[in-house]
Amino acid sequence: MVNNLGKRKIVVFTGAGISAESGLRTFRDGDGLWESYSIHELATKDAFERNPKLVLSFYNQRKVAAKNAQPNKAHIALAELEDVYDVVIITQNVDDLHERAGSSKVIHLHGQLNRAQSSIEPSITYDWDKRIEIGQYCELNSQLRPNIVWFGEPVMHLEEAREHIKSAYKVLGVGSSLSVQPAASLLNKAPFRAEKTLVSLEIKGKIPFSYKFMRGKATNVVPVICKNWRKLEVNSKCT
Ligand code: NAD
Repeated sequence: MVNNLGKRKIVVFTGAGISAESGLRTFRDGDGLWESYSIHELATKDAFERNPKLVLSFYNQRKVAAKNAQPNKAHIALAELEDVYDVVIITQNVDDLHERAGSSKVIHLHGQLNRAQSSIEPSITYDWDKRIEIGQYCELNSQLRPNIVWFGEPVMHLEEAREHIKSAYKVLGVGSSLSVQPAASLLNKAPFRAEKTLVSLEIKGKIPFSYKFMRGKATNVVPVICKNWRKLEVNSKCT
């Protein structure tokens, strides 16, 4: 629970809702991406094999949107919390707004828009800031694809994420509908004694056991929580 700098560990689990106020659409809200596009045409390996041009075009657009977006007050407050805590961000998001806000430990469960991946060997990935085009190959001579976990594919870094959450002093979930598994069930791995809070406009289904739910926008609620937690930690070190 305490790292070698004497900082206690806070694990933050984030979803598309934290980036909504940076202008990136979520998946499942009324105006979410899956209201306008079909998962089966865009977010499966079969879809990529059937129509790679369409799938690449969709993710190339997402990449441009993410690149043009800026971290918001919630991303920034979480990054600033590193002054006093060991903060590990476990995110379902594929944008890089946590990193650009200054967070130093970010685990991407569902991949990253700014990377490309071999379509035959998922462990081969590249920094890829530009568009992915048909005819661009990995070192094994197979077409490059987005470094995105599509439906039916295994989540990345799941074991590492689980170990972090099991040793957390506090857990904060932000902007997730908790409807994508196995990512959402990570929250159940938090220690019984850890303080556990969820911030979202809504949750699909049940709030996980012993979590306090705070309904609200990430940019309104997260900076307040971070300010209080910072104060508590600073005061505890002074007394
Ligand atoms: P989701 O779309 O299922 O749910 C988003 C949640 O955020 C909802 O519960 C909604 O009520 C809440 N929300 C919306 N605006 C909010 C705000 N301003 N403040 C607080 N909460 C708000 O998203 P999810 O649970 O992350 O679903 C997982 C999938 O969505 C992941 O696989 C992820 O890769 C993908 N995704 C990522 C991005 C991104 O990287 N920015 C964008 C869209 C989808």
